[in-house]
Amino acid sequence: MTVTHSLGFPRIGAQRELKRALEQYWQGDITRAKLLDCGRRLRQRHWRQQADAGINYLPVGDFAWYDQVLTLSATLGNIPARHRDAGGRIDIDTLFRMARGRAPSGATTSACEMTKWFDTNYHYIVPEFEPDQRFHIAYEQLFDEVAEALALEHTVKPVLLGPLSYLWLGKSHGDPFDKLQLLPALTDAYRQLLQRLAELGAEWVQIDEPILALDLPADWRQAFEAAYNRLQQPGLKLLLATYFGALGDNLGTAVQLPVAGLHIDLVSAPEQLTPVLDRLPVHKVLSVGIVDGRNIWRTDLDQALAQLRPAAERLGERLWLAPSCSLLHVPVSLGAEAALDWEIKQWLAFAEEKLAEVSGLARALDGDASGTQQALFADSRLALESRAGSKRVHNPEVESRLAGVTATHRQRRSPFPARHRLQQEHLRLPLFPTTTIGSFPQTPAIRQARAAFKKGLLEAADYRNQMEAEIAVAVNQQEDLGLDVLVHGEAERNDMVEYFGEQLSGFAFTENGWVQSYGSRCVKPPIIYGDVSRPAAMTVDWSRYAQSLTDKPVKGMLTGPITMLCWSFVRADQPLKDTADQLALAIRDEVRDLERAGIRVVQIDEPALREGLPLRRAQWQAYLDWAVDSFRLASCGAEDATQIHTHMCYAEFNDIIDAIAQLDADVITIETSRSNMELLAAFEDFQYPNDIGPGVYDIHSPNQPEVDWMVGLLKKATQRIPHRQLWVNPDCGLKTRSWEETRPALAAMVTAARQLREAY
Ligand code: GLN
Ligand code: ZN
Repeated sequence: MTVTHSLGFPRIGAQRELKRALEQYWQGDITRAKLLDCGRRLRQRHWRQQADAGINYLPVGDFAWYDQVLTLSATLGNIPARHRDAGGRIDIDTLFRMARGRAPSGATTSACEMTKWFDTNYHYIVPEFEPDQRFHIAYEQLFDEVAEALALEHTVKPVLLGPLSYLWLGKSHGDPFDKLQLLPALTDAYRQLLQRLAELGAEWVQIDEPILALDLPADWRQAFEAAYNRLQQPGLKLLLATYFGALGDNLGTAVQLPVAGLHIDLVSAPEQLTPVLDRLPVHKVLSVGIVDGRNIWRTDLDQALAQLRPAAERLGERLWLAPSCSLLHVPVSLGAEAALDWEIKQWLAFAEEKLAEVSGLARALDGDASGTQQALFADSRLALESRAGSKRVHNPEVESRLAGVTATHRQRRSPFPARHRLQQEHLRLPLFPTTTIGSFPQTPAIRQARAAFKKGLLEAADYRNQMEAEIAVAVNQQEDLGLDVLVHGEAERNDMVEYFGEQLSGFAFTENGWVQSYGSRCVKPPIIYGDVSRPAAMTVDWSRYAQSLTDKPVKGMLTGPITMLCWSFVRADQPLKDTADQLALAIRDEVRDLERAGIRVVQIDEPALREGLPLRRAQWQAYLDWAVDSFRLASCGAEDATQIHTHMCYAEFNDIIDAIAQLDADVITIETSRSNMELLAAFEDFQYPNDIGPGVYDIHSPNQPEVDWMVGLLKKATQRIPHRQLWVNPDCGLKTRSWEETRPALAAMVTAARQLREAY
């Protein structure tokens, strides 16, 4: 019998039940008992669903009130002093204080940092380590949940993040020190933890070490062996789980660790099966992640089976099957998608459907040729054929246009200095020109109008009138404030990717395809299923209208190809680079249409450029090359006289400054105010040649920025960047702020810019 298991299941609930309960609890609208009850019901339902899908070992410990790394910190007693309550008690509110800075009980204080979980769009709570950090078992959630699952008579496999990955993902507090010095103490706590799990009756424990898919310094790689030697526990078997990429140079370490089994991701790195099989010690279980845990496409079961056969022959009972990683990164079930077009729907598999694929593959390896099995494989074949031949996927016009793209398409007509002269002739901007990043406050009235229009409760003409009125408000405000390059304010946009996706062919949207981003926050990524094309202009009417209201230049506002790619579920049947280029061609056409409508400045936002970086350094350049190429395909169709802006936020620039410069945008606006203009060092060292708008105030904070403070920041900026290259703008869009906050902030910003002009 081929064993099947699941590394983790989405915890938020098919209808986002956990989100609702959490937010109600934080608001004080429900009791803690109610919240606990909601969690219990979700866990029970999820175990049931996984067992019904034919999964043998069910995960426990994948549920979390906020984040699984945070739960582990609590379990290990790693609670920052500021989040402890007077009694030293650690409970669910401790978790919320760490994650959000506040909870229904305890004092309000600053939250822990949150950051991206590897290259996914999930965010975890960063553990904090002191040089003399101690660890001990301090929080019982995991053990309680194991007992809960056992009481339901499930065969369980507790899952937890391994000690090396836990240390790696945390940050040292105070004076920097080598985190590895904490490993012995941490390993001791893990020993206790594993002992508790063994006492509860666990046979297998899954211990995740995703950092084995990263470039590791030698001392970190070497630290694995000693740590895992200490984790040996009589009667308890460890399954070391790796995912999100190839083991690569960590392969030797991973196969030789003293554990009973190893899980590898065969979806992101199919080539590693043979080397792992060749080097895996004979007693070990190999769990093969054969179904994509991160994307939403149905598996090609025939191909997967063919891939698995050699492993099955060599391993027999020692072969286990699973999704490639935790299913946290995909929606729960296709069952909740009544409105999704049937043709597209048959190409997809969400968490539940993926588990059915895993168990179907296991049964096939075991020789089951029943009718159900045959139907499962026949369905998979049919779906695949339908997708391969579908006109909705393949658009010959798009494909031939892409084939005709040459280097000239990715090159502006003239170099920056010549363009700059021309642009200046038209735009006549002062020194330190002022602008904003695009969005203005999304007032309740705007949101209501958009929602009503979407539901069909508001006529298109009424909707347009209302949005135009909002645009007029935004334009008037900006004229009053004395800004130099205006924007229309993005009132019509719910989301910077969805807005474009809804107007492009090749995109589909789900009703309930929610994926947890962090805590109670979920996103519903669009699905790019086919060749992308633009049936009609997407933004031109709004921008043209805005421009008709003012003599100042209005900046057209577009989302770049890489950001659309990073924030969607993407096709796996063609290289990412081709999808990016198709998106780029659609944006390129939009830029041309904006020019024809009289727009002289166009911003193409790429806040996600850095997020797309591969986990391994060796692959960075290849990614950056095509990402830059795509941006240039989107932007380089513009006339020399058209000023192309781009915008990035939350970015470190040092290691990608080359690529940023290659984008060759005439102006780049970036988030810098919180770093005190430190981020500009990268641009200074590089002698970045084009214009830069370093954000002079943090739009995430409700605090009003002072003129003097912004003048100070700008002076700092002039020490790094020649003043003729500098623009003045906020850090990011203003959609989350109110007009009451926005007006004085921008007025102060304009005053700051004027003071600087006088100084030059
Ligand atoms: N133009 C967008 C806005 O202003 C940019 C958003 C972003 O950078 N994430 O809202
Ligand atoms: Zn931004």
